[in-house]
Amino acid sequence: MRSEEQSTAPPRAAVGPVVGRSWTRRARHLPADDHDCGWLETLPALEPAKRLERDLGVDCAVVGAGFVGLSAARRLALARPDWTIALIDAQRVGFGASGRCSGFLVDLVDFTSKMKPLARAGYVNTARWGIERLRSLSVEHEFDCEWDDKGWVRGAVGEDGMRFLEAWPGWLDEVGIDYHWLDNRGMQAVTGSELYRAGIRLPGYSLIHPGKLVRSLREILPENVALFEESPVRSVRQVPRGGLQLEVGGPSGLFTLSARRVFLTTNGYLPSQGFHADRVFPCFTFASMTRVLSAEEQANLGGETEWGLLAMDPMGTTIRRTRGQRLLFRNTAHYAPKLSISNGLRAKMRAFHRQALQARYPQLANIEFEHTWGGLMGTSHNSQLLFGETRPGLFTAAAFNAAGIAMGAAAGELLADLAVGRDSEQLRAMRALPAPTWMPPEPFRGWGGRLIIARKNAQAAEYI
Ligand SMILES: Cc1cc2nc3c(=O)[nH]c(=O)nc-3n(C[C@H](O)[C@H](O)[C@H](O)COP(=O)(O)OP(=O)(O)OC[C@H]3O[C@@H](n4cnc5c(N)ncnc54)[C@H](O)[C@@H]3O)c2cc1C
Repeated sequence: MRSEEQSTAPPRAAVGPVVGRSWTRRARHLPADDHDCGWLETLPALEPAKRLERDLGVDCAVVGAGFVGLSAARRLALARPDWTIALIDAQRVGFGASGRCSGFLVDLVDFTSKMKPLARAGYVNTARWGIERLRSLSVEHEFDCEWDDKGWVRGAVGEDGMRFLEAWPGWLDEVGIDYHWLDNRGMQAVTGSELYRAGIRLPGYSLIHPGKLVRSLREILPENVALFEESPVRSVRQVPRGGLQLEVGGPSGLFTLSARRVFLTTNGYLPSQGFHADRVFPCFTFASMTRVLSAEEQANLGGETEWGLLAMDPMGTTIRRTRGQRLLFRNTAHYAPKLSISNGLRAKMRAFHRQALQARYPQLANIEFEHTWGGLMGTSHNSQLLFGETRPGLFTAAAFNAAGIAMGAAAGELLADLAVGRDSEQLRAMRALPAPTWMPPEPFRGWGGRLIIARKNAQAAEYI
């Protein structure tokens, strides 16, 4: 065990049952998989899921097994080896945004430009800590997750993108991040495409295979974590005598999971569970992945053999050339509070991905997309994240926007620290970050959200 993971004899806070005013929240909608995520569907099949099929009492239940839940469960289990911990998910591990994301480990993100310098430094340092936690786990446990430190690029296609790009050196200097400016030819040398006017390379900034990373994190769960997959939580209840009760299950039966503490690490799904709808806004974004490129197609593509690009253009297209020699395109957003995505909508989104491919690689314009999927992000009005004990005994971290791998890993670990009373500089920095601002109730929230998303999609159309 790494020394920093050993308990530093914290005040043994948060171990007895929490007595609070009783309440119940029922899930209105449950996660629905579109069974077409390229990262996950191309991995070897998992063994059948172990479901929760009996009533159970544990010290702590962690609901949602993405980067946040996996990180929280592990950290808690190591800090409190005498605790029983249930990690529970409606789907398989990582089938939320975590296994569907684009795999960029980010610290300085666009929305931090709107933060005050102190808060920006706090955000960047916390996300960096998250990256280092993932990196050290990956090294220690020899994760096979295609970790690539070459440094991804940010690229600009249009006027707006160029304006943002030109502001970046200032932000990068302020927080001490090394970068290389790339002109059109430099961008072509990386991506093989003539489309980009300019860009910035961030050496040392990492890419991962998200599906493999979530599986690796699943494999290193400590023994005192019991994992239950395909076990949807249908309600959460604070019981009058203390503690919390979850109603879990489906057609084959409903079971009670009682816990002294509950972590709700369901991110974009949180509002559909009846929590924090006034702070966390569920927003889908979409990606498509091509089939494996032939050797001839790879040669036609030009550029480097493995790279990632985040757009500087607002809502522009994220691209990856993966280690397995597929191309991934991600763009566009959609509000779907019922959490399900129709095949028709995925087909429409695939057409945007095709447009992005054609604009960059006319020589590969007709190559097949093998997979198109949607992923649910938790967003917030001011792009800030929710973190803390939001009700007695209920711990939540959500609303990572499109930057939740590093920050999610950090938030999961620090949420565990908060629950066991382990103080640290990182925990204080996380707690000092601005909170998400209030959003109005439905139907105004939906109307406003749809309008903002439609405007952003329309704005992005120009750069796709
Ligand atoms: C397409 C896409 C690309 C992205 N790209 C990047 C990127 O490159 N870099 C980056 O940093 N971030 C990226 N993000 C954002 C990042 O993926 C998320 O912020 C992060 O994965 C959130 O992790 P999480 O653990 O909070 O949530 P999730 O991974 O969404 O996990 C929540 C879990 O809760 C479970 N759940 C929900 N409801 C219930 C219930 N009722 N009962 C039981 N379980 C339930 C779900 O099944 C799910 O597994 C991207 C997101 C998307 C969608």
